[in-house]
Amino acid sequence: MTPVPEGLLFGVAGIPHSCPEDSSLKAVELVQQMGLEALELEFVQGLKMGPETAARIRLAARNHRVKLSAHAPYFINLNAEDRGKRMQSQDLLLNSLRLAAAAGAGDLVFHAGYYGLKSPEETYQNIKNSLKEVLSIARSEKIPARLRLETMGKRKQFGSLDEVLSLCRELDGLLPCLDFAHIFAREGRVNSYRDFLQVIKKVEKKLGRSALKSAHIHISGVKYNQTGELKHLNLQEAEFRFDEWLQALDDAGVAGTIICESPSLETDALMLKNLYHNLKEKRIDSGHQT
Ligand SMILES: [Zn+2]
Repeated sequence: MTPVPEGLLFGVAGIPHSCPEDSSLKAVELVQQMGLEALELEFVQGLKMGPETAARIRLAARNHRVKLSAHAPYFINLNAEDRGKRMQSQDLLLNSLRLAAAAGAGDLVFHAGYYGLKSPEETYQNIKNSLKEVLSIARSEKIPARLRLETMGKRKQFGSLDEVLSLCRELDGLLPCLDFAHIFAREGRVNSYRDFLQVIKKVEKKLGRSALKSAHIHISGVKYNQTGELKHLNLQEAEFRFDEWLQALDDAGVAGTIICESPSLETDALMLKNLYHNLKEKRIDSGHQT
């Protein structure tokens, strides 16, 4: 029931600052009123939303034509040393997916876990095995929300671009959430038009054109050091070249949802949306001239 995007839709992670109440329901209305098109529900501190609230949010999103996604709790670790903790993480991921679907979210973004003392290869296998089970249950229950494995910004976290794309290629039903601030912070590179285009081409090569036509993307400014991401910044205060990034997305014909995670939330999301639509208009104008 969520609208199918033709280009990019812009939204925020969590409740906008200008929202008078700490309420996801109000946030859905407000997002539309302020001219945005998407909202990521934050389950990051746990699954506190009841089924009635979820149903109301689902309805509100449909009425206001807001595309919903959700973000799973931060404390999931599918590579935990302790088997009990790994199973708890699987349960939490599945319950997040069920709640996301109940609230009308088509996508659930999650962080898979940490390497801890294990090698990247062993971590990859552990996470793959855990996710296989989760995906199989999700399929058997026909949960109408997709799992989105996020590219992570800290080097101790599983989730380099290559790891995410390989796992998504291997596991049916798993899709990426491309966090470009994280990709940039993790490597300290990937910050030019050419770099962004390279990332996009890599996604296409590994996962096919369809992955670019229903992309789910996170963005913010970011402060980082040799360990990777330190904290999010507003785009104007950071070195991330968001204008070149947006140009690359547009030139490559990427469609889907952009979720802004800058501290300023809606201010940056609206700035990006305007910039994107200006690019599109320019393209139409120059098309008419030739
Ligand atoms: Zn995240």
